[in-house]
Amino acid sequence: MLVDSHCHLDFPELASRLDQVLASMQANGVGHALCVCVALDRFDSVLQIARSDPRFSASVGVHPDSPDAIEPDVATLVRLAADPKVVAIGETGLDYYRSEGDTEWQRERFRVHIRAARDSGKPLIVHTRAASADTIRLLREERADEAGGVLHCFTEDWETARAGLDLGFHVSFSGILTFRNARSLREVAARVPDDRLLVETDSPYLAPVPRRGKINEPAWVLHVAECLAQLRGRTLEEMAAVTTQNFFRLFSAARAPGDAH
Ligand SMILES: [Zn+2]
Ligand SMILES: [Zn+2]
Repeated sequence: MLVDSHCHLDFPELASRLDQVLASMQANGVGHALCVCVALDRFDSVLQIARSDPRFSASVGVHPDSPDAIEPDVATLVRLAADPKVVAIGETGLDYYRSEGDTEWQRERFRVHIRAARDSGKPLIVHTRAASADTIRLLREERADEAGGVLHCFTEDWETARAGLDLGFHVSFSGILTFRNARSLREVAARVPDDRLLVETDSPYLAPVPRRGKINEPAWVLHVAECLAQLRGRTLEEMAAVTTQNFFRLFSAARAPGDAH
């Protein structure tokens, strides 16, 4: 069984056809998907989706790409994270690629999320783009190792992965791994230890080869896992077992199929 550790089921491309999304997951051996929140005013939709099926779980957080979003505070995030369907804080982090001018608001928002993760005891989902040094610095300064988490949709270099691993973080790879021009990323993915690997789609975006250009969905995490298996010289079954075990260990509030607790 595979798990999609990061998708956006509340986005209109997927929210309008969740029955098909689930059927396609079933047909491709994908047993769980974590629906990641990007703004507080979307949290209700994310939570409703997570409650609609035991194969879904949710997070709570505000994406660094939205300067005008409702600003979260620690208490609000901790309160919303107390819902049993919420398994993580995020997505949060730093994105200097899309941001212009003063980015201090991003760093402050990121610190708030890290504090909320430590207070709530739920791990962080970290988005980092063109900001790896500051991302690692803030994770250290705010003692994110006490919360744990994942560097999601990883596209940075080995030094950044190494720094994240040293903080006890996991590293998650998306369909970008399958893109022709991603050779250096595949080299990074080959080096991440088994017990820290996750796979994701970040759907509806970033459809992997051979679905590139289509609307992505959780089922296609299969192609990410296939790519990872190939570059690490492992079978798909081994890669699925490893990444699924890592997912349910990291996001311990998520319930695996057949888990009665
Ligand atoms: Zn992201
Ligand atoms: Zn995302």
